[in-house]
Amino acid sequence: MERISIANDKTSTAHDASRIAVIGGGFTGMVCALRLLQAGYRVTVLESQPSLGGLTASQNFGPFFWDRFYHCILTSDQALLGLLAELGLSDQLCWTATEVGFFSHGRLYPMTSPRDLLRFPHLSPIDKLRLGLATLYAAHIRNGDRLEEIPLEAWTRRLFGARVYREMWEPLFRCKLGEMRHQASAAFLWGTLRRLYSTREKGPEKQEKLGYVHGGYGAVFARLQQRVAELGGCIRTGVSIRSVRSVPSDFDPAYSQVAISSAEEAMRFDGAVLTLPNRAVSACLETGNAAYMERLAEPRYLGLICCVLLLRRRLSPFYVTNITEQCPFTGIIEMTNLIDRQRETAGFHLVYLPRYTMSDDPLFNASDADVWGYFSPQLRRIHPDLKDEHIEAQFVFRERAVQPVPTLGYSRIAPPVATPVPGVYLANTAQILNNTLNNNVMTMLAQAACEQLMRDIPPVVAGIAPTAATTSFPALHAALPHEGVPCLPI
Ligand SMILES: Cc1cc2nc3c(=O)[nH]c(=O)nc-3n(C[C@H](O)[C@H](O)[C@H](O)COP(=O)(O)OP(=O)(O)OC[C@H]3O[C@@H](n4cnc5c(N)ncnc54)[C@H](O)[C@@H]3O)c2cc1C
Repeated sequence: MERISIANDKTSTAHDASRIAVIGGGFTGMVCALRLLQAGYRVTVLESQPSLGGLTASQNFGPFFWDRFYHCILTSDQALLGLLAELGLSDQLCWTATEVGFFSHGRLYPMTSPRDLLRFPHLSPIDKLRLGLATLYAAHIRNGDRLEEIPLEAWTRRLFGARVYREMWEPLFRCKLGEMRHQASAAFLWGTLRRLYSTREKGPEKQEKLGYVHGGYGAVFARLQQRVAELGGCIRTGVSIRSVRSVPSDFDPAYSQVAISSAEEAMRFDGAVLTLPNRAVSACLETGNAAYMERLAEPRYLGLICCVLLLRRRLSPFYVTNITEQCPFTGIIEMTNLIDRQRETAGFHLVYLPRYTMSDDPLFNASDADVWGYFSPQLRRIHPDLKDEHIEAQFVFRERAVQPVPTLGYSRIAPPVATPVPGVYLANTAQILNNTLNNNVMTMLAQAACEQLMRDIPPVVAGIAPTAATTSFPALHAALPHEGVPCLPI
């Protein structure tokens, strides 16, 4: 395999480009790397895990690879679709009209169309009308800033009425947010409804169409890696960053550089973009700015314990089954009702059982067998005809920091792009405002962080003075002793 050419290449015409480290090789990090390389920077991606991907990592399920966590693309994901087109993946996009189910009062109900809602027996006609109208109203609120100040539960109860709240929303919030539902703002539901509503096709049934890339996010990352390599970027995995700080330049103490170190090595760059969750940023960013550190600690993240099943039979026709009863998992995502089973999953049915939970949930320490032992009775209650012989394999994945919860006044605690460390910028999921966790918004946040960096640190140094906003050193790269870290062959 070919090694990616990088900073070592003294013959490169890019030898006087500013060198930027992108820390974190998840989706946001790779989009940042692409944007910075396109703007003429010399970029090194530093990822702690043995492979790229983060929350969008591809997983070896045995007979096939697919995303470790379930992902879909919405027709309204314009920024993401634009990126996929840029990567030449538009012709690999597949769209499916998906269905939604509800498990309520011990029974499974379809809930895809208005007709399904009309048939749902646990709400009165007035409740249904109110649910429809209130959903429409909520999805069409243009500016959700005001909703950030209103508690989620109170707003939902007021808007939808007590019975709809009790029958539908309260159990869903309990599943999705756990104890954090009491602290979440109305912007959570607004953002979710707006995103979901945006996928509805015009027409009488207004059916949802969801998309995916053939090969899953593994295919997207392969293309991102290829583009980064073509543009001369360097990707290094297995490098866990412990410290990021500003240091005087070796060449002119009037300027600063960014010193980055792992347990094994020290590196110098002209700038850096951190794409890590807040807790990981706090652990490595060296700053005496206590107020900034306190702000980083404020967003509360939900963790995730996700059981994944490879089945020999279909569970239901639903892509998502919402569960409105006490249940150890948040919902059922039957991926193969979205993706083509023959083409993507070697004929197996792929099912995710996610449990969003607090990061100190004792279940994080339970064995895979114990997690499955806890989940399986409820799954069998919902699908009593599921037999052991239908289960080809099962997996359990755990992540302690997945989703920052939009609490009251969240935009006041969301971390800004600029950090107190000169030349160091932040692009992470805690910056999502009034939206759900998704790669469309992360594409835009990555772009925004890069644009801010570009305003402060010129891409090519020759003849360009640094701005007053930053003292990042205009790179004297050719002579730097730190450059030319070995790259991962890809
Ligand atoms: C269950 C689930 C379902 C989802 N469904 C959808 C969906 O349907 N559609 C959609 O668009 N989005 C979806 N998402 C969201 C999507 O996965 C995220 O938007 C995306 O993965 C965020 O990427 P990121 O790069 O910001 O963060 P991460 O993926 O968390 O990347 C951060 C990276 O930093 C690395 N790192 C951490 N510490 C260090 C360190 N000290 N040094 C070096 N590297 C470090 C980590 O290993 C990781 O690779 C879903 C997410 C989950 C969990």
